[in-house]
Amino acid sequence: MTSATQHYIGGEWLEGAGDAIPTVNPATGQGIGDIAIGTAEEVDRAIAAARAAFEGGWGRSAPAERRKALLRLSQLVAEDAMELGRVGTEDSGMPFSLTTGEAVFAAEYLEFFAGWADRLTGETIPLNQTEVFDYTLREPVGVVAAIVPWNAPLSLTIWKLAPALAAGNTIVTKPSELAPLAPARLVELVAKAGLPRGVVNLVHGTGGATGQALIEHPGVDKVAFTGGTETGKHVAATAAKTLKRVSLELGGKSANVVFADADLDTAAYQACWACFLYTGQQCIAGSRLLVERAVEEEFTEKVAGAAGAFVAGDPMQPATQVGPLISERQLDRVLGFVEEARSTARVLAGGDRPGGELAGGYFLQPAVIGGVTNEMRLAREEVFGPVLSIIPFDDEADAIRIANDTPYGLAGGVWTNDVNKAHRVARAIRAGTIWVNSWHGLNPATPFGGYKASGMGREGGREVLASYTETKNVYVQLR
Ligand code: NAP
Repeated sequence: MTSATQHYIGGEWLEGAGDAIPTVNPATGQGIGDIAIGTAEEVDRAIAAARAAFEGGWGRSAPAERRKALLRLSQLVAEDAMELGRVGTEDSGMPFSLTTGEAVFAAEYLEFFAGWADRLTGETIPLNQTEVFDYTLREPVGVVAAIVPWNAPLSLTIWKLAPALAAGNTIVTKPSELAPLAPARLVELVAKAGLPRGVVNLVHGTGGATGQALIEHPGVDKVAFTGGTETGKHVAATAAKTLKRVSLELGGKSANVVFADADLDTAAYQACWACFLYTGQQCIAGSRLLVERAVEEEFTEKVAGAAGAFVAGDPMQPATQVGPLISERQLDRVLGFVEEARSTARVLAGGDRPGGELAGGYFLQPAVIGGVTNEMRLAREEVFGPVLSIIPFDDEADAIRIANDTPYGLAGGVWTNDVNKAHRVARAIRAGTIWVNSWHGLNPATPFGGYKASGMGREGGREVLASYTETKNVYVQLR
């Protein structure tokens, strides 16, 4: 198994000099190894290695070199999907079906961005001065610090690594101390794929120590961050001191809007998936389920019934859909929301901790809460757990008002058989992704990111490449 006490710097695995902290299997509550907390000195060495690789050739490499390297890595990730999945499940508690699926998606993502390496073209610009030839170049930004959370550590690392490398940047990544093993396994594959030394570096550690050293370091040109909104604000403010480029993928409180004319059985089942996938620990959780008042009772019953099928269980079992929460702290936090709901609203399904063999892990039976209003804490704060709140609305305008009454703007959904209404509501919700009669559709070719407090910038699609490139204008006086 990958030892998370080792950092990967300049093409070598190095034993960490800093203190070690245990990493825990959330399904059992048992330690599965230690991770080293990367010191400021180790962060400095990793950034120096990334700078040397950038200036030593990768930043000016032929597009075909980068394309081939990403394709080799894609192949290795696809071949390693089972092991990446096993390591990821043991470390994060996410079901094995999900972590192996993530590995397959990661391979597709790498393949897609490999194809962009030789398509990052500039343009020629016709000027009124006819004796001038003007053109633009797309150049890599430089050294990128990629900081990712624990909820989907493999995908979220790849989302940054693939476009950054395709554009010729070099990377220092820091996974979350809570789930560092799948990113570490990925970096083993990077080494196998034969990328030049220093192009990808990994330093383990905590956010407060290792992450902080990265975002303060003057040698980092860009911070690509995924995590909570409060941490994101801190990252942006710190990075501003040295004018680093910053992209932020942050939290959400997304509204899933169900109209009376929708296929209510499908909407009810899919609304559970929209919230309970990743045990509710997903930025795009459809945690506010808005239902048209005319069908509130009927639909609520269907949702509560469907939720019963989402039984928390051993994440290594192929059939398990809902694993444990990441930590005892997170479990206590989520239980706090459920307890509050028992007095302010109605717990219609779930919300209890399973016993028996699961008692040692951080499991919670997925909960459905009825009688919620958009003013309640449950509807305003990101729970980041399997807790689905049902909120009624009167008509289309009311649904849009409630959907937008949140500081966040990451995603939204609309369920209806009226095509006009679907497009109207999709336009009116202020969020970076809208799903119609579905949820979770993500593709390497499509942009993903947040409005408002959900972030800045986009992952995926051609749009992400703008954040990993600088545009240079060249003005040539012709004589
Ligand atoms: P978090 O506490 O903000 O941590 C995210 C990452 O930042 C971790 O690697 C963390 O390290 C690191 N970090 C913490 N403090 C830092 C600092 N001062 N300087 C630099 N790095 C620092 O978030 P989380 O609780 O792990 O993740 C859940 C959040 O991520 C949720 O809000 C969720 O919505 C959001 N998220 C957003 C997206 C998206 O694409 N929009 C995707 C997934 C998750 P340690 O964990 O080691 O402390």
